[in-house]
Amino acid sequence: MKNEEVMAKGLVERIGLAEGVLTHKWKDQKKVINQPIPDHNVAVQLVLNILTDKDCGVITSMDAIDAVGHRVVHGGEKFACSTLITDEVMQALDECVDMAPLHNPPNIIGIKACQAIMPNVVQVGVFDTAFHQTMPAKAFMYGVPYEFYKEDGIRRYGFHGTSHRYVAGEVARVMGVPVEKLRIINCHLGNGSSLAAIKYGKSVDTTMGFTPLPGVLMGTRCGDIDPAIVLHEMERRGLSAKEMDTIMNKKSGVLGISGVSSDFRDLGEAAANGNERAKLALDMFHYQVQKAIGALAAAMEGVDVITFTAGVGENGIEDRAGICRGLAYLGAKLDEKRNDVRGKNALISTDDSTVKLYVIPTNEEIMIARDTRDIVSQTK
Ligand code: AMP
Repeated sequence: MKNEEVMAKGLVERIGLAEGVLTHKWKDQKKVINQPIPDHNVAVQLVLNILTDKDCGVITSMDAIDAVGHRVVHGGEKFACSTLITDEVMQALDECVDMAPLHNPPNIIGIKACQAIMPNVVQVGVFDTAFHQTMPAKAFMYGVPYEFYKEDGIRRYGFHGTSHRYVAGEVARVMGVPVEKLRIINCHLGNGSSLAAIKYGKSVDTTMGFTPLPGVLMGTRCGDIDPAIVLHEMERRGLSAKEMDTIMNKKSGVLGISGVSSDFRDLGEAAANGNERAKLALDMFHYQVQKAIGALAAAMEGVDVITFTAGVGENGIEDRAGICRGLAYLGAKLDEKRNDVRGKNALISTDDSTVKLYVIPTNEEIMIARDTRDIVSQTK
């Protein structure tokens, strides 16, 4: 942590399926292991084995691990910052399962697997929702009966908080201006997309809501739609709640509009080859991001800097151009030459642009590592 060096990174996929995959990268090398990985305990054990392996490992023994940081998607209203995982915290996470049925159960399984295999190692939870806990009630409440909030926790929570927090700190560092002096709109545009208004270091509004479904249309998620469409189509097509949920999460967004792909690279190519629906999907995406920027600028009574991050934000040169061409009214002027950049910190606005535009690659892992280090040092 002293010099924040990445010693290794990896991924375990297809847990519980016939053949699992572990990918391990260290220095400029890569090893892929294909074998059945029946559950998360086996997955965590495999990760530890490879981290301590004599040929491709990066630490000599498990004793070198002081702590484990976990990304947890939903912390509800209980967690406004990262926290040491205790029995009470596990209980609170269980209570959030209802609100994130897809994400929280695997998070809990991952934490339990690490606790079982490394019983004496500190575990820390870093929540996607925590950064947005500073939103005022007028921003997080929905116009539904108040009991929905009080009894069922229906409110805007927001997601990608770890990424929004990282980018806000990083752009302030790059600009040499304290984050407490900046009004930032961060556009996290990837498979899932959300924008956040970060006023003087604090999230004051964001486009995702009770779940990661609303906001701008995404790879396969519909984003904001008239809620009455849901009931109308369920009735007309005889869809169950589960089927409707799958349609909104997996079959909508730019995939649903284009019928081509959820991947923005494929869409760009199809649009260039004259596919009208791919072009429409991209036009809708750019337009919805522009509108969200306008709304979030209103939330902060102005904006000083707009940042682009995640897969599309960092790499989609045409997508950034499509979005920024409509922002001149705000005083944000894209420099097309500077915009010819991928995957690194870069200023992409003109010198006379009053609102600065930046590409800032996100780094959620470093935030999780920093929070984990800070919490460990407080407990020692
Ligand atoms: P993420 O969810 O942040 O990993 O972002 C993944 C998405 O980034 C992919 O679905 C792609 O659509 C998009 N992406 C990656 N590279 C590029 C690129 N060069 N141009 C446009 N989009 C890209």
